[in-house]
Amino acid sequence: MNDNLNSNLEQLYRQVIMDHYKNPRNKGLTGLPHVHIKNPSCGDDITVEALVEDGIVKKIHFNGSGCSICMSSASVLTETLEGKSVDEVNNLIQEFFEMMKGKEDVSDNLEEALVYQGVSKFPARIKCATLSWKALERLLNGEVDE
Ligand code: ZN
Repeated sequence: MNDNLNSNLEQLYRQVIMDHYKNPRNKGLTGLPHVHIKNPSCGDDITVEALVEDGIVKKIHFNGSGCSICMSSASVLTETLEGKSVDEVNNLIQEFFEMMKGKEDVSDNLEEALVYQGVSKFPARIKCATLSWKALERLLNGEVDE
């Protein structure tokens, strides 16, 4: 990939991230089972709730505050994973973690979440991008907060 294409792609990724930061999808809790999680190094503070029925993650919402990477990633997570089976969601969460560790050949099923691939080059921001994904992972493992 040449540098020009690369920077165009990065610009597109930045646009997607800023769009989800400014216009978050599925923000606001409705009293479903949830997990609350913090990233002290950045001040990010996220709660993710989900409705699981018949093996399908039917609804995902989030709330909280934090940096643009963290907040946009939570919004992207809800859009990317809502409506998928629990197994598929668990697989995509692991795939997202692998991508953040630098894996390049990742599933297209990550859809918009692929825009965070570049964040893997910035170790300090990886926790920001993965925070909501960790919360959902815990939630699907049955670690529900009061
Ligand atoms: Zn952050």
